[in-house]
Parts: sequence; structure tokens; C-alpha cells
Amino acid sequence: MDKISEILTELDRLYPDARPALVYRTPYELLVAVILSAQCTDERVNKVTKVLFEGYNTPAAMVTLSQEQLEGYIFSCGFYRNKAAHILSASRDILEKFGGEVPSTLEELRTLAGVGRKTANVVYAVAFGGNAIAVDTHVFRVSNRLGIAEGKTPEAVEEGLMKVIPEAMWSKAHHLLIWHGRRVCHSQRPACSECTLKGLCKYYEEHK
Ligand code: SF4
Repeated sequence: MDKISEILTELDRLYPDARPALVYRTPYELLVAVILSAQCTDERVNKVTKVLFEGYNTPAAMVTLSQEQLEGYIFSCGFYRNKAAHILSASRDILEKFGGEVPSTLEELRTLAGVGRKTANVVYAVAFGGNAIAVDTHVFRVSNRLGIAEGKTPEAVEEGLMKVIPEAMWSKAHHLLIWHGRRVCHSQRPACSECTLKGLCKYYEEHK
């Protein structure tokens, strides 16, 4: 078995239930939750969206909120000004260009104002079952450390991962790498001594 297959097999064994921890019922709710999740825990996002989505879980309802009103709902997620602006821009775009429905292709998702590449990839993969690898801070760090896709930007790591991972595994690999980053391969102090991937890890080989 090659290195990437060994790593994915082991991650799958460790985290058989790896899936998004964000709570959502529709592609639009997922889109809003993913925008809110930047630099914020999924638990916090879930608390905020539980209240927000009671009244505002469609683009049409969301745009009835002013920027300030929306900020009031989401301020505890951090970066609330930008996030509120992005949610409102994306909602307007969905209403004006896509008849109120979140588009289901990667190309269209990436055209939405306020929706970055990572957010588009997550929504495409999770809400629509598409093949995409969203590179967030965990995927970026763990991929570089393991040496499976090295790069200085999320785009470079995304490209590297797409080359070595079979397309059907892209979405699954994204979740597995996130879970390993959250549970073991922490940003500040990776728990290398208890990590079962250390025999396959470039960072461990260089720092042990
Ligand atoms: S050995 Fe250390 S650096 Fe490598 S994947 Fe495991 S925790 Fe991360």
C-alpha cells in the first residue's frame, strides 16, 4: 500500500464517524454555518445558528435583516462584521442570480459574493455530495506535516491533495484530516508520541 493509502486507511480506522459537526437542514443553512465557522468552533456556531435560523434560514428572510441586526445575532462567532457582510452579500446573490436556491455546482458556488473557495468546496462536497477538498487550517497543517501535500497556501495544498488522493475520496479525506488536526495533530503541540501516523509522518521524522 502506498503512503497516502496507509494514512487514509489509518485515519478511517481512527475516525469512522468523521463528518461535519455543524448542524444544518438545508444547503443554505450549511452555507451560513460554514461562513460563521471561520476562526470559530463548530459548537459556538451551532449555538448561534440555533437562534438565528428560527427566524432567518432562507436568503429571502436573511436579507430583511440589516447588517447591524445580523451582527447582533452572530457577534459571539468573532469577525462578526465581515461575516455578517458576507452572509448578506451571498444571500442577495442567491436571490438575484439563482432564484433563491443555493447553486449546486462548484463553479456557481464560487461566484457568490462573500463565499471563498474553502466555503464553496465544503458546501459542494457536504450539501451536494460533490468531490472537493476544502483546505481549512487543520487540513493545511496536517497535510504539510505529514508531507502528503506541501505548500505555502491553501490552494497549493488543495492542488497537492487532489493529485495524490483518488477523487472519490476527496470529501472523506477532508473530514478525516480535520478530525486528526483537532484531536491529535494540534497546532501548537502535536501529540506525536500518541499518534499512530508517526511512522508515516515527515514532521515526526524531522523533529523526533
Ligand atoms: S506524528 Fe505528530 S506531526 Fe505527524 S501527524 Fe502525528 S501528531 Fe501530527
